[in-house]
Amino acid sequence: MIDASEHDCLLKAIKDGQLIPNDGLNQLFDQADVISVQGYDEQRRVIYWNQGSENLYGFTAEEAMGKKLEDLIIPKAMRDTVITAHNEWLRNGIKIPSAKLSLCKSDGSTVYVYSSHVMYKNQSGQHQMYCIDIDLAELKRVEAQALKKEKMLSTVFKVIPDLCFLMDENSIILDYYAGDEKSLYVSPDVFLGSSMHELLPEDVALQFIQNIEKVKSKGGLVTYEYKLPLPHGHRFFDARLSQVPNSNEFIVIIRDITENKQKEELISYQAHYDSLTNLPNRFLALDRLSQLVAMAKRNAERVAILFIDLDEFKKINDTLGHNTGDKALIEAAKRLKSLVREEDTVGRLGGDEFIVLLRGFTDAKDTLTTAESLLRAFRQPLNIDDREIVLTLSVGIAIYPDNGKTPSKLLQSADIAMYQAKHLGRNTYSYFNESMNTDLSRRLDVEEQLRGSLERNELEVYYQPQIDVASGLAVGAEALLRWHSDKLGNVYPSEFIPIAEQTGLIVAIGQFVLEEALETLAQWQAYYGVSLSMSVNLSPRQFRDPRLLSSIQCIVEQSGISAASLELEITEGVLMTGSLLVDSVLDGLKKLGIQLSMDDFGKGYSSLSYIRKYAFDVIKVDRCFIEGIANNEADKNLVHAAIAMAHSLGLTVIAEGVENQEQLLILEELKCDYVQGFLFSKPIRQSELLSLSPYSYTNNINSD
Ligand code: C2E
Ligand code: MG
Ligand code: MG
Repeated sequence: MIDASEHDCLLKAIKDGQLIPNDGLNQLFDQADVISVQGYDEQRRVIYWNQGSENLYGFTAEEAMGKKLEDLIIPKAMRDTVITAHNEWLRNGIKIPSAKLSLCKSDGSTVYVYSSHVMYKNQSGQHQMYCIDIDLAELKRVEAQALKKEKMLSTVFKVIPDLCFLMDENSIILDYYAGDEKSLYVSPDVFLGSSMHELLPEDVALQFIQNIEKVKSKGGLVTYEYKLPLPHGHRFFDARLSQVPNSNEFIVIIRDITENKQKEELISYQAHYDSLTNLPNRFLALDRLSQLVAMAKRNAERVAILFIDLDEFKKINDTLGHNTGDKALIEAAKRLKSLVREEDTVGRLGGDEFIVLLRGFTDAKDTLTTAESLLRAFRQPLNIDDREIVLTLSVGIAIYPDNGKTPSKLLQSADIAMYQAKHLGRNTYSYFNESMNTDLSRRLDVEEQLRGSLERNELEVYYQPQIDVASGLAVGAEALLRWHSDKLGNVYPSEFIPIAEQTGLIVAIGQFVLEEALETLAQWQAYYGVSLSMSVNLSPRQFRDPRLLSSIQCIVEQSGISAASLELEITEGVLMTGSLLVDSVLDGLKKLGIQLSMDDFGKGYSSLSYIRKYAFDVIKVDRCFIEGIANNEADKNLVHAAIAMAHSLGLTVIAEGVENQEQLLILEELKCDYVQGFLFSKPIRQSELLSLSPYSYTNNINSD
């Protein structure tokens, strides 16, 4: 094959009359076997036929010489046109233009050629036409192949979502492929010929330039991602860049990966943010804490953790339902967030626990302001479903580095401080101090030892007699648990009962107390008559045990005592849960004929309303009122009112914690029914109770 420039060169040589007269060129043409050169006289008879013509058309020079052009290689359909064109040239000088033609070979087959023609006058004044034909079969094949490749490529780009740009080393776009032109964002007239600098934001363009340099020096393929701000939002792209072999051109394939990125971002968001409140979750919040601690370490700064627990949040879930509970959490989260600076973190650790991380303060007092403003802000009720709900917070504060040098230690310290705030009566804050650690380790010890206490027979039920004020007769007793721990010594109920509640151990322990107490009562009644009763305390946690009612019924039946001699004491805490389960258990207990007593009456806020709502038989006026009854008029009045009200409702009143004669006299005067307290007896062991006759205390009463 010769290329177009060689072809043009030959043509010019012939035109200039160099060809035929010039022996050198003649020889060259004779030899040239890939270019066909033919000469024709005015009658179009062959006067020259080189090796290339023989190769192309299959006629030897001998066969061709003297034959007419139109008889030799012109297809029938073109004969007249060729003859006319040739005559026009001869007579009127109208040139036959170069053209791609299909001509005939000696074997009748067709050959596709590019044919150029010159006419010149020889020395004898005769016109001669020379044709130079190049076989286009190969060119055609290559063209067809290129076309096929082109089609394939455009099909590929139609089916794949990618864009392809051909760029030079200055990132100027030379060409492009796009299956869907819409994905271009900019019209090709704009970007073709423009550099990435002109088209893209500076930082993204720089990525292209740097990666072109990288591919140029190291070869291979580089991939990178970039983000573009587009009118309808940010979009993310993945680019794969490579150099076109043996050229200074580069191909970059670009894919829009926005959807994947968004999915990734969503997954990452879900892994780091709480789906309910949209606050950083435990994982992210603790990660931020780690970062803050690391930064504070470098800059010798302080960091504060505020560990926040919503007070009695469970009550909202139980009384108003989880849906409202969720909404309350969302509102609480919003409020917390609105109270801290943008740079501070508010996270949700789970449930009703939140964390606030503060940095950049110099004085620990600054954290106090924040803690106080949190508590103050929560005094305003949250509006949820047209209902106003007041939530209070217990906040524990720990400070880096004073209360812990690692994130986990700090979190633990803040948690301990939060528990302290709960102990202080909730709706308050507490700073961590080392003594809390001692408290915590004691708590953990108690919990650990309590777990095996039943099996090790360390628990023992004591009994405190209850005395009829009018007659001085012992009418019953309250079962009160005692724990003699092998490891910890005597532990008081005020310490271990709350832990038994929190851990759920109270369910098994409560069952044990009831069994013991009723067995004791059965024996006591056997000695002194069935009018003796037994009071047993039930804690709120026991009401979450679905088998509570059936288990009580079972124990009562097994003991053989009458259900009416059992009195169950519950506190306001049980009723505050508002749970329907509590109502149905209380109902069931009543149906069994068991007496219900409201313990610690007056200590809570709503004792009165509960008395009206539930079918109590007895109220036990809390010790704190009895304590003041002799010296404090208000206490006395309150006890008086409670007794009058209880009697008007047909309830019996027991005064707890009667320690002296003076108190007893006042209670007698106020018509209190029964009393219980150290004046008569401390809680005593079973053996002592059984040896106790109902008449044991008649002297105490009648001593005046
Ligand atoms: P509570 O039911 O109000 O029991 C009365 C508490 O007052 C008992 O404390 C008793 O020893 C004490 N007490 C009685 N008379 C006097 C007195 O004259 N002066 C003073 N200062 N105290 C007096 P205890 O036994 O330490 O029990 C404390 C609380 O632990 C109980 O309060 C009760 O809520 C709970 N508890 C005790 N045993 C059990 C139990 O078996 N189950 C449950 N669920 N709770 C129990
Ligand atoms: Mg009690
Ligand atoms: Mg009590």
